[in-house]
Amino acid sequence: MLALNLDTVKFKVYNLYSVKIVLLLTAFPLLFVLNQCAFIEPPTKREVCMDEIQLKKEEIVASCRLLVEKGYLMATGGNVSVRIPERNAFAVTPSNYDYLKMTPDDVCVLDFDLNRLQGDMKPSVEAGMHCAIYKARPDVNAIIHTHQVYTSSLALINAPIPHLFDEQVRFLGRSVEIIPYMPSGTGLLKDTVAKHVKNHNNAFMMQNHGALVFGTDMDRALDNVEVLEKCALAYLLALCTEKKVSKIPLPIREIAFSKLRKDQKTVEQRVAEALAKTTGTSN
Ligand SMILES: [Zn+2]
Repeated sequence: MLALNLDTVKFKVYNLYSVKIVLLLTAFPLLFVLNQCAFIEPPTKREVCMDEIQLKKEEIVASCRLLVEKGYLMATGGNVSVRIPERNAFAVTPSNYDYLKMTPDDVCVLDFDLNRLQGDMKPSVEAGMHCAIYKARPDVNAIIHTHQVYTSSLALINAPIPHLFDEQVRFLGRSVEIIPYMPSGTGLLKDTVAKHVKNHNNAFMMQNHGALVFGTDMDRALDNVEVLEKCALAYLLALCTEKKVSKIPLPIREIAFSKLRKDQKTVEQRVAEALAKTTGTSN
């Protein structure tokens, strides 16, 4: 009887040991993982901003290369920028610099008082114009200024592009207007452009100068550059025939434009929310 009891006690003790061993074997790895997690700190707001700035600089370099390859940017003409809502700033191409040599480190980052936050190179002479556009148009997150040929030719003969195509109005606005000539890099040009862009259109011609195109993001701005050049070429060819140029019906123009405005209002809201988050953390 006693032997039986001893066996029962031994069995219970062994059983207890095995339960403890199993617990220890599972608990140690779990504790180790939890311990490691404690050392992984979430990224700070500053780190998030730095990543965002680097991504925007890379986006500018890639976009400029694409625009050069497609023939929209030539030599050192034109300039490109992108808004950085998380930083209440914008990144812009450097002045008079070969686009194919440009690296993300060459891109300048400016705040909306034109103070340089990053970049050793001189920013584009049109940085003030880009800044004024971002202030006037909260829906605009990317700006491309080129000297693309067909659009520039219409800017020379002072021929604004009316509402010719559905796609044109949907993405560029009711028409492509001419912004009166002002010398490059001046406050006069900046002020004149800022006054004209308030009509919510996304493409303009700068008289005796070139094209000015906006987008809710860089991809849209790049597409808009191509839509504009296609419209400019088609309109130029049509004008050469000296025949009457037909336009899309006005109700269709307004439907297409209302879709563009809907997109713009959504982006305006998003930018405003991002700016609200940066209040007190920018710079
Ligand atoms: Zn220019």
